[in-house]
Amino acid sequence: MRRRLVEMVAAGANARQVAAAFGISTKAAQLRIRMDGDKPVADQFTRPCLCCGKKFRSVGHHNRLCPACRHDAQSVSPYAP
Ligand SMILES: [Zn+2]
Repeated sequence: MRRRLVEMVAAGANARQVAAAFGISTKAAQLRIRMDGDKPVADQFTRPCLCCGKKFRSVGHHNRLCPACRHDAQSVSPYAP
């Protein structure tokens, strides 16, 4: 179920479509979409890094730099803690 769920969400399916496909309630589908794995399913996808263009697994919409570039950016930023 999990693999198909991830595929459906990646293809843009909403909770109601997922619920219909798996024969579960919309509420249950919403929970599954949000709780699948340790990260929200919808927020997990690969995107090209804004800095080097290399594809990486983004954890969310705020996550635009690959881990290597993020590390570099932090090491040169005067605002980094
Ligand atoms: Zn990068």
